[in-house]
Amino acid sequence: MVLSLIMPAQLLGAHMPIAGGLGKAVRRGKEIGCTAVQVFTNNPRQWTSKPLEQEKIDDLAAAVAETGINSLISHDTYLINLCAPNEETKAKSIAAIKSELVRCAALGIPYAISHMGAHMKQGEEEGLRQIAEETVKVLEDTPDGATLLMETTAGQGTSMNWRFEHLASIYDQTGNPDRLGVCLDTCHIFAAGYDIRDEETYERTFSEFDRLVGIDKIKVIHCNDSKKDLGTRVDRHDNIGEGLIGIEAFRLLVNDPRFEQVPIILETPDADKMHEVNLKRLMDLRE
Ligand SMILES: [Zn+2]
Ligand SMILES: [Zn+2]
Repeated sequence: MVLSLIMPAQLLGAHMPIAGGLGKAVRRGKEIGCTAVQVFTNNPRQWTSKPLEQEKIDDLAAAVAETGINSLISHDTYLINLCAPNEETKAKSIAAIKSELVRCAALGIPYAISHMGAHMKQGEEEGLRQIAEETVKVLEDTPDGATLLMETTAGQGTSMNWRFEHLASIYDQTGNPDRLGVCLDTCHIFAAGYDIRDEETYERTFSEFDRLVGIDKIKVIHCNDSKKDLGTRVDRHDNIGEGLIGIEAFRLLVNDPRFEQVPIILETPDADKMHEVNLKRLMDLRE
């Protein structure tokens, strides 16, 4: 008999609310069964950030030591647009993304996820050029401790990075920096037109990603079902197995040996009540 060494996904978690602090978010994550936790380190709908106090750093470090959860991820403000035609918005975006990376490095959070931008009618090619140009500068000016992850989007409005080709182009134009990775969102790629609903389509989508970008670039997966259909380019998250993606895609995902050590993070609706339920669904799918 051959013993299989393939393990299902080991790092399952959720985006946890930060009311009460980052430490509390991690402890609450542990209570509902998380082995990875995503947080906001700042108000996601504000440009400004308060200076990071030592107390906040210590609080998070204590929670990590207590819970053993050391797979932490931060999600950047939704306002960021590195290819904004408005110079002021662009400057604020650059400052916000830099301060997020600085904060993450200080907090010991290795990954900061960002929706990189929307071209606002400048065209996709120009959007990609500007994102690449600013990304190089952002990475140059920030500490090594935190890696920037570009999130795949649903392609709503003029959002960039809904095609795998966009990510490939940014890597190409930035010279493939070590501190630039990808956060793949299952709801977003599905809404953008990439099917993953059965074994065949799942494999086709991930081999396409591998061919164009490289599967090793995926550092985090956002695990959400979708209220909107394939190719609609509308971003509406649903509970696992209740949306139009369906349960089979998530079974394939949590048993995919390529993602054994990749944090798989829920961003499903009604966090307080449903995170625990959705997490249990994912755990039960592991073989
Ligand atoms: Zn997401
Ligand atoms: Zn979304």
